[in-house]
Amino acid sequence: MNQPILTLQGVSKEFQSKDRTFTALKNVTLSVEKGQYLAITGKSGSGKSTLLNMISGIDYPTNGSILVNGLDIRQLSESKLAKWRGQNIGIVFQFFQLIPTLTIRENILLAMEFVDVIADADRENRVNELLSRVGIAEQANKMPSALSGGEQQRAAIARALANNPEIIVADEPTGNLDSKTADSVNDIFSALALSGKTVIVVTHEKNTALKYHRIVNLKDGEIEL
Ligand code: ADP
Ligand code: MG
Repeated sequence: MNQPILTLQGVSKEFQSKDRTFTALKNVTLSVEKGQYLAITGKSGSGKSTLLNMISGIDYPTNGSILVNGLDIRQLSESKLAKWRGQNIGIVFQFFQLIPTLTIRENILLAMEFVDVIADADRENRVNELLSRVGIAEQANKMPSALSGGEQQRAAIARALANNPEIIVADEPTGNLDSKTADSVNDIFSALALSGKTVIVVTHEKNTALKYHRIVNLKDGEIEL
């Protein structure tokens, strides 16, 4: 395998409540190659979202290491991590999470402002390019609530791409869409992987027609071999 872009070594995650410890991930070891289109499957509660949160640095593992492009992300301080994430990981959620009081264009510009790697002068053009790429160029100046679910998810994908991250993670991105709309959103993820991005998608779908390079199934917090 080529140099992995992402390596998880012996990752476990425990959640502590007052009277007990719940282990959501157990000794997860996984390498993901650059450009891979990876699906993470498993029943509800199997640890899929927890695993994505580890990869995107939204949450820390209890044990184990996570290397992204050779960088151990646990070494980063909270503020460095937020900036690192914005630059390196594009995140797509099931319920889109667009800011409701901003237009689609403003949502994407805000992501660029926060990370500040795209030059000011290039931002407007880049917004237009990204929206064209996901097929909603004409929606740029609308509020999220004026868009259909599928269009909102396309906008959220455009936002995830704002700072040109190497890795895209998506947590059940089609979970709230009808199957036809879901297919067209999945096509966008396929195209991203073909263009060289590393794409990691949590999904309930067992649609083998989807062009994943690899499927990792989680069962009770462990990778099922
Ligand atoms: P999935 O995404 O596969 O449905 P999750 O990763 O969300 O599963 O959750 C895995 C398990 O960890 C579940 O049993 C869930 O209740 C538990 N869990 C997730 N987050 C927390 C948390 N912050 N505190 C306590 N338990 C949690
Ligand atoms: Mg989940």
